[in-house]
Amino acid sequence: MARRRQLYEGKAKILFEGPEPGTLVQYFKDDATAFNAQKKGTITGKGVLNNRISEFLMTKLGEINIPTHFIRRLNMREQLIKEVEIIPVEVVVRNIAAGSMTQRLGIPEGTRLPRSIIEFYYKNDALNDPMVAEEHITAFGWATPPDMDDIVHLTLRINDFLSGLFLGVGITLVDFKVEFGRLYENEDMRIVLADEISPDNCRLWDSKTNEKMDKDRFRRDLGKIEEAYQEVARRLGILPEAGLRDMKGPEMMQ
Ligand code: UDP
Repeated sequence: MARRRQLYEGKAKILFEGPEPGTLVQYFKDDATAFNAQKKGTITGKGVLNNRISEFLMTKLGEINIPTHFIRRLNMREQLIKEVEIIPVEVVVRNIAAGSMTQRLGIPEGTRLPRSIIEFYYKNDALNDPMVAEEHITAFGWATPPDMDDIVHLTLRINDFLSGLFLGVGITLVDFKVEFGRLYENEDMRIVLADEISPDNCRLWDSKTNEKMDKDRFRRDLGKIEEAYQEVARRLGILPEAGLRDMKGPEMMQ
């Protein structure tokens, strides 16, 4: 079979042309980056785990009627998704202070926030993904005011649902980042959840010990990164059946 055409290569994923118009294949790499790609590394098996974790979470969100780009998982490292027009905004939700918020506002890590806070960042590597206000997003036409209403509403529902789901398996959802896209179907346009939801873009702490189970282990050289990602999958009940032996999976799709 001919190799599918590569459309885009990002830091952690590659997008290929899908088998039918309007579909794409999303391939999960083991590559990890942090601090706007200043720090680079490989987390063995990460792509396999993130593919599986993102499939699981997107499917659960679909079951509560959150529209997503996810169609189905194809194999260890690939999933079939709907092609969407990505809105160039990273939407971050915070329940507990961590990461850039602690630095920017001097709030100690671990402080429970009085309510969930949504922040927006303009997706632009050259500018280091600067934080922006909804005003910038609508004024510059990255999204319309009705798009933003949908995005905020969906994001709050995703946060409520995922917070409960993780709490049920002994994990605190500290914060996470999501991206949305425009899906055109017939004459209609819908805002749908895109990208991935995995320990690469969530902060997940063990509820009892507050131990970090996410990419902060890589960012801060805390070690046991693979183990942490595996533990998230294990608690969700979705550790790949093949076990850790096959974590590398196929090197590249055909
Ligand atoms: N995040 C992400 N991609 C980014 C920036 C942030 O997935 O480019 C996620 C990050 O994993 C965390 C949340 O968004 O769960 C908030 O990140 P923060 O603003 O604290 O920045 P960071 O500490 O990642 O620099």
